[in-house]
Amino acid sequence: MVQMGFYIDVAKCIGCKTCTIACKDKNDLEVGRNFRRVYDFEEGSFPKPSIYHLSISCNHCKDPKCVKNCPTTAIHKRAEDGVVVIDHDKCVGCKYCEWNCPYGAPQFSEELGKMTKCDTCLDLREKGEDPVCVSSCIMRAIEFGPIDELRAKYGTINEVKGMPSASITQPNIVIHM
Ligand code: SF4
Ligand code: SF4
Repeated sequence: MVQMGFYIDVAKCIGCKTCTIACKDKNDLEVGRNFRRVYDFEEGSFPKPSIYHLSISCNHCKDPKCVKNCPTTAIHKRAEDGVVVIDHDKCVGCKYCEWNCPYGAPQFSEELGKMTKCDTCLDLREKGEDPVCVSSCIMRAIEFGPIDELRAKYGTINEVKGMPSASITQPNIVIHM
């Protein structure tokens, strides 16, 4: 299995949130439901303050607590690429996955009564395209691909100050500061 994952270049990200909006538009997400979110971090103080932004969605983790704690096996890892998806025929909307994800990735749909989340734009990928967060980023700060290739290219940093410890779920994300 080739595990897929995201690369986020924090040094390039300007915090414009175009990725969040493009994702909301594609997935028709109402106010408050966001598969990809951009967090702003501020550090230091005058005369040397610093600010950085981190765009994050589901990390399709190696040890996904959401999967382990789903009582109906609705949320599961795809055998072919390790992408974590939700089977709405099985989901009962109990929100256990939301409570177990340290990254806040599962987002509940009141309309459906089911949990929803990033599926890496499977429909676009089937057509050979990138996830919409990748193609919409004006700074080209997001890449998607086999996580082994991303790690070989960019290193193995998978958490930054302000994020949950990567030891909890082993996220398939590479971050460049
Ligand atoms: S980021 Fe959260 S929802 Fe996504 S696989 Fe990891 S634990 Fe599950
Ligand atoms: S909300 Fe759905 S996917 Fe999440 S744990 Fe419950 S049944 Fe599983």
